[in-house]
Amino acid sequence: MKTNILHDTELTRPVPVLYKSKANCCGCSACYSICPASAISMIPDEEGFLYPTIDSKKCVHCFKCIDVCAFKPDQKDKGYYQTRNVGLKKAGK
Ligand code: SF4
Ligand code: SF4
Repeated sequence: MKTNILHDTELTRPVPVLYKSKANCCGCSACYSICPASAISMIPDEEGFLYPTIDSKKCVHCFKCIDVCAFKPDQKDKGYYQTRNVGLKKAGK
């Protein structure tokens, strides 16, 4: 069952950036599949390839989309992300 309960750490996090260029996204849709708030849509680009877009009004800042994405570890290194066992932390700490 999905829940909309937000924890304090989730309220202070930004809406994540799923990719900054297409080199950071292969369009696998893992983020779309795992999002508990149905905040991600897969939108076709001009060539018909699907890329994810987040609806910031639906996003609950859980960062599961970043956690599941194995395609851009640079974003995990730079910012906040959630691990399953220790919650919010800065990468490398
Ligand atoms: S999980 Fe990562 S690589 Fe896959 S569609 Fe989402 S952002 Fe792109
Ligand atoms: S942070 Fe959570 S709610 Fe927001 S888009 Fe990612 S998976 Fe969905």
